[in-house]
Amino acid sequence: MAHRITVLPGDGIGPEVTTAARRVLDASGAPLEWEVADLRAGPSSAPMLSEEAVASIGRNRVALKGPTATPLAGRSRSLNLELRRRLGLYAQVRPARTLAAPGPFGEVDLVVIRETTEDLYAGVELARGTDAAGRLIELLAAEGLPAIRPDSGLSIKPQSEAAARRILCFAFDYARSHGRRRVTAVHKATVMWSTDGLFLEVAREVAAEQPDVELDDIAVDTLALTLVRRPQSLDVLVMGNLYGDIVSDLAAGLIGGLGIAPGANFGREAAVFEPVHGSAPRHAGRDTANPLAMILSGVLLLRHLGEAEAAARIEEAVAAVLAAGEAVPADLLLYRGGTPAGTRRVADAVARRLERL
Ligand code: NAD
Repeated sequence: MAHRITVLPGDGIGPEVTTAARRVLDASGAPLEWEVADLRAGPSSAPMLSEEAVASIGRNRVALKGPTATPLAGRSRSLNLELRRRLGLYAQVRPARTLAAPGPFGEVDLVVIRETTEDLYAGVELARGTDAAGRLIELLAAEGLPAIRPDSGLSIKPQSEAAARRILCFAFDYARSHGRRRVTAVHKATVMWSTDGLFLEVAREVAAEQPDVELDDIAVDTLALTLVRRPQSLDVLVMGNLYGDIVSDLAAGLIGGLGIAPGANFGREAAVFEPVHGSAPRHAGRDTANPLAMILSGVLLLRHLGEAEAAARIEEAVAAVLAAGEAVPADLLLYRGGTPAGTRRVADAVARRLERL
């Protein structure tokens, strides 16, 4: 029976790269049916999450998602955050593995696991000058905490024990089921002891219950240095929302950039597969975007559906196309030079390669 998958083409380069990924996934021979939906409903000035899209993912329990642009100005909540909240997607997985010839950072094979419901991205924002911000500033002063200037805006960083335990258990399960040995908890517990300190404490409790997977920990600033100096020393990294967002972009840079970095979001009821990158507006509609991050997100999706053989064949085809220099997207030519291939040509080359494997 075919797997039914919701497709959310998204904004900017989203429609081009999702079309490219569908072309390749279809060519893999896995039995797939696509249900296309738009994540956005309502006027473009005040977009809302489309109930149709949420219902489609709820039915199919799996989606391939293009990037969604979030306006920089204003107080609108990101549709990405809204979607994760509605579907209960709490764990984001962003593997960074060298597929083609290694760049200056050598062979990299690590995984970033990011908690996506709490932390500074929880959306608890108090604007400068509002009553709520003023009251909180007074309350904190009354508690004897360091003074906050009255003209401050406040972004609150919640960290619950339950969410820490849930993401840490996810990371340990992930490590075990993917043949990995070590989970590294990322934090800044020396400074933020009430939040990152709690995260680390729970990490140690979870590790004590699951001794078959090793735990260590690293301060997030030290991690930044380690990522560029000795990325081979890292295995599975687990962290909060903000660190995860930043570290996964850095990890993408180690393997060739955002154009080749896949990702996935997991909850108890659904999984949504999407690249690390955003809508890259300057490439939109020009057939110049790299579709590999989306194609490789599709590979993660196939593995999730139990189509491991089709997934492995696509990875092999991508690696072969890049190694042969057959169709190399512009962003991956940084370290090797040559003529860039457009979005469609890259997808065609991978699909043709698949037919020969
Ligand atoms: P971005 O990832 O879109 O772009 C960062 C840089 O990488 C740009 O130089 C871009 O041209 C390049 N790039 C990204 N993907 C590429 C690809 N596939 N091929 C070639 N080059 C690529 O990040 P941004 O510019 O900060 O954000 C643009 C928009 O995307 C914003 O509205 C942001 O909110 C949104 N965004 C969405 C998601 C998501 O939906 N999951 C994630 C990140 C950003």
